[in-house]
Amino acid sequence: MIDVHCHLEQPEFSEDRDEVIKRCRNELKAVVTCCAHPSDFEITIEMVRKYKGFVFASVGIHPEYVKDISGKEKDEFVERIKKNRKYIVAIGEVGLDFYWVKEAVWREKQKELFVEMIELSKELGKPLVVHARDAFDECLRILEKHGVENVLMHLFGARHLVKRIVENGYMISVGPIVLRSKNHKKIVRDVPLELITLETDSPWFGFGKRNEPVSIKNVAERVAEIKKLDFDAVWNQCGKNAAGFFGLKF
Ligand SMILES: [Zn+2]
Repeated sequence: MIDVHCHLEQPEFSEDRDEVIKRCRNELKAVVTCCAHPSDFEITIEMVRKYKGFVFASVGIHPEYVKDISGKEKDEFVERIKKNRKYIVAIGEVGLDFYWVKEAVWREKQKELFVEMIELSKELGKPLVVHARDAFDECLRILEKHGVENVLMHLFGARHLVKRIVENGYMISVGPIVLRSKNHKKIVRDVPLELITLETDSPWFGFGKRNEPVSIKNVAERVAEIKKLDFDAVWNQCGKNAAGFFGLKF
């Protein structure tokens, strides 16, 4: 099994990061940690180098940070990403977040940034990890307009778009929210297993405590229950989907 989306660079892990990764290694095949802000880049690349073949990285600028990052900082970050492409398996999480950003002018900026990140993923030949919150329709419209093919919709929650996602051959990642949400349960029911990967979004989604990638077992159990499949079938297939999507080499 592979946790396709966690944030091991977060300060919640600064005391015992190596211990957390050790626990992961005992139970998982790999983790993809997501660096969504330039200030997290160095520590992310450090982990990838230290845990080669186990910790992989997706890197991008989260739409929520659109206000905090100047044009110059963004350009420098893009250059660093290009230079370090061999340590990066995907561009993300990038996209639109209309939940945290309400002003029209900043939403437009998010769209510009998203398109720029799409172009970067094409230039580097890397798949795209998409974050969309209250903006699934707009995100999908932009992805389709730019003909993006290798897409993973992180924490996908828009049931009315399932058909289009499946037709486009996009992958989704299912996180701990499926333990609580009927909407996400129905999405899992309706998306073929071949398009599903699993994530924890650690350290978040621990429901009151810090989450860790090993808790992905709970997500896999729930998906197996919803799909009426064996736990092992889900565990193996979702891991295989993830390795294929990111082109992981262990
Ligand atoms: Zn995330």
